[in-house]
Amino acid sequence: MVEDIELRYDPAAIEPKWQQQWAANPALYAAEPASCGKPKYYVLEMLPYPSGQLHMGHVRNYSIGDALARHMWMRGYNVLHPMGWDAFGLPAENAALKNHTPPREWTQSNIAAMKRQMLRLGLGYDWATEVTTCLPEYYRWNQWFFLRMYEKGLVYRKKSKVNWCPECATVLANEQVVDGCCWRHETTLVEQRDLVQWFFRITAYAQELLDGLEKLDGWPEKVRTMQRNWIGRSEGTEVDFFLEEQGTEKTRIRVFTTRVDTIFGATSVQLAPQHELVTRFTAADPKLKTQVDELIEQQKKAREAGDLGAIEKHGVSTGHFAVNPYNGQRVPIWVANYILADYGTGAIMSVPAHDERDFEFATKYGLDIVQVIKPVLKSEGVELPFCSEEGVLVNSGEYDGLSCEAAQKRLQEIAVRGTFGEPKVTFRLKDWGVSRQRYWGTPIPMIHCERDGLVQVPDEQLPVMLPERIEITQQGGSPLSRVPDFVNVACPKCGGPAKRETDTMDTFVDSSWYFYRYTDANNNKVPFDSAVARYWFPIDQYIGGVEHAILHLIYSRFWTKVMRDLGLIDNDEPARRLFTQGMVIKDGAKMSKSKGNAVSPDEMVGRYGADAARMYSLFAAPPDRDLDWQEDGVAGVSRFLARVWRLVTKYAPVARAARGQQMEAPTGEALKQLRKLHQTIAKITLDFEGRWHFNTCVAAIMELVNTMQAADAQLAAGEIPAPVVHELLRSLVLLLAPFAPHLAAELWEQLGETEPILRAVWPVSDPELAREDELEIPVQINGKLVTVVRVAIDAAPKAIEAAALADEKVQSRTAGKTVAKVIVVPGKLVNLVVK
Ligand SMILES: [Zn+2]
Ligand SMILES: [Zn+2]
Repeated sequence: MVEDIELRYDPAAIEPKWQQQWAANPALYAAEPASCGKPKYYVLEMLPYPSGQLHMGHVRNYSIGDALARHMWMRGYNVLHPMGWDAFGLPAENAALKNHTPPREWTQSNIAAMKRQMLRLGLGYDWATEVTTCLPEYYRWNQWFFLRMYEKGLVYRKKSKVNWCPECATVLANEQVVDGCCWRHETTLVEQRDLVQWFFRITAYAQELLDGLEKLDGWPEKVRTMQRNWIGRSEGTEVDFFLEEQGTEKTRIRVFTTRVDTIFGATSVQLAPQHELVTRFTAADPKLKTQVDELIEQQKKAREAGDLGAIEKHGVSTGHFAVNPYNGQRVPIWVANYILADYGTGAIMSVPAHDERDFEFATKYGLDIVQVIKPVLKSEGVELPFCSEEGVLVNSGEYDGLSCEAAQKRLQEIAVRGTFGEPKVTFRLKDWGVSRQRYWGTPIPMIHCERDGLVQVPDEQLPVMLPERIEITQQGGSPLSRVPDFVNVACPKCGGPAKRETDTMDTFVDSSWYFYRYTDANNNKVPFDSAVARYWFPIDQYIGGVEHAILHLIYSRFWTKVMRDLGLIDNDEPARRLFTQGMVIKDGAKMSKSKGNAVSPDEMVGRYGADAARMYSLFAAPPDRDLDWQEDGVAGVSRFLARVWRLVTKYAPVARAARGQQMEAPTGEALKQLRKLHQTIAKITLDFEGRWHFNTCVAAIMELVNTMQAADAQLAAGEIPAPVVHELLRSLVLLLAPFAPHLAAELWEQLGETEPILRAVWPVSDPELAREDELEIPVQINGKLVTVVRVAIDAAPKAIEAAALADEKVQSRTAGKTVAKVIVVPGKLVNLVVK
């Protein structure tokens, strides 16, 4: 009976024991200084927002990163594996409004709760480098970066149409508008408002952000494609049409086109309804104003519905004319609902013969259609619109006969010479609007003085502290503007009365550079020591959700380039490799509180243990695919861990006694066991090096344990030499360590080891031992697979042929027939031609 109790796997006893030991020895998971001489490895999981509760998506994300970190430690690397909190943001303000808890207290108690959950999962983080973005020790550096960027012209202020979420009562970045709605409020339509806003000039890096994607071959192709599309580069020409009007002052209407070679086919100029010239026309024409307002309304509705690309095209003629600068031809000016004010110049030339959209519009409104490009070979009967660039110009005066490409170049040169246009590369990417009319964010370190205008807060006055305990209301505008103590300040330049900026920064600022701070988290002189960051960067492996592909992952690439240009770092990109894990779903939908299908990590840990929950989240699906959560599966992994526990515990005394003993050349069952072991080592090592199919790694460990258990009789009878038993159990426990760290640590101790398993050396596969001495060869009859035969790995073709012919299935199928020919491909295949 005593034995039974001893053999029971009890994660509720094992796990807290090891968690306490780990907490008492923080050096275990701590990064070492560069002087340690080991190669470095920086593994990073995206930092969570402190909502107060980890969800299974987190558990999956962190289980992947933790397995990798542990593996790299055991491979002898100096590993940096940090964790922190993306702690500014709206939910804290909403909670304050609802529960009258100050955002800071709410946030900090959530952090404490989630940290406790992380410790309960046994995640091996270096807590000495913990970063909490809502603390002044961190956000002062947001302010410092803001000022450096301001000095470099990378920060500016302008009045602009902004996306306004009435629910958030704040501005959203373009990236935060999803299908016309707020990214946080999926059913709240985003409004357009005019506000003076602060911007980061991310477009200054548009080309570099695009070019850099080519070198990021350790990033998923889908992420690179999403970023490429988001940056949206198009090459073309800006050309000025001229407004036909009285007087000498010529009003220019600048249009952007990718096909200036078709300009002689332009039969109208089309303006966005918000274009300033349209405003001028409508001021003098009430009827036109009504029509334009309607177009604006249609555009707004389409934007809200999220299908601007599919908007039903409407337009209205202004009655005014524009003059083509190349040939003086006059064309009507229209206003159209599908022209966007914030894309290109908000004006286009319409060439119906060579553009699908223009063709549709011209057909609908009866505008002229003039062909100016013809295919190179075919001259008659071309169906319009003809949109290919493989053609030559016609109906284009002196340019007739030029190829499209040559004409584009020539017409650009003429525009430059005539000062009515130039080659132009445009990007879909817009500057990053960072102003938020929120309380719970980084105060923008600028001061408005009536005498001096905009004045920077001097560095020695940083951080500009967020005032504590202010009343949160949701009446719109910046909450900080209602705190006189905060607002009123002496101008740093003239000493006179001045006012602080009351907007705070977008929280994506916080996550744009947090991973640099991890390398030197307690520095109070600079954001981080450059030498330390140079040692650790780039991040070797970044792991997170694909939903961050265009927000966080573009902003942080931008921030890295800015820091490089400030001389703080050498790397161009933050992360060498990026891995985006799949979602955790249950009952066919993404797990979420609102859908009522969320599974609590605490509950799983309570029922099955942290090791089982973690191992299941790696085992249930390849990490890049969605994982369909099944509690049965967690229970299954838990039963497997109990089997490992029984097996190792049972034979640990044998293994322990054999520590340090030399292993003789193995034969028979011992050799079979070692072969399986070394095949498993090779497979798991290879997976960690690149393929990352941890689900098959866990399956391989299960197979290995099955093989060992099948030899239980031999093990019990002492037929397998003790040094082999030692090698088998020791390696099994090492292989388990990245996936089930508590159980591995406990069994490691049982095997008589005193050093932490994390400091043990990852096992190396011996190719000689791993090599199979037999091989399975498929046997075909007339090209159809019939059976497989086992032969010695170095069997001669004659022996393979004999084995195939001796096979029962082969004999029954060839009975009474003639084997006309036997083809043997050694090591691969036998094919019998039978008549
Ligand atoms: Zn919102
Ligand atoms: Zn002043």
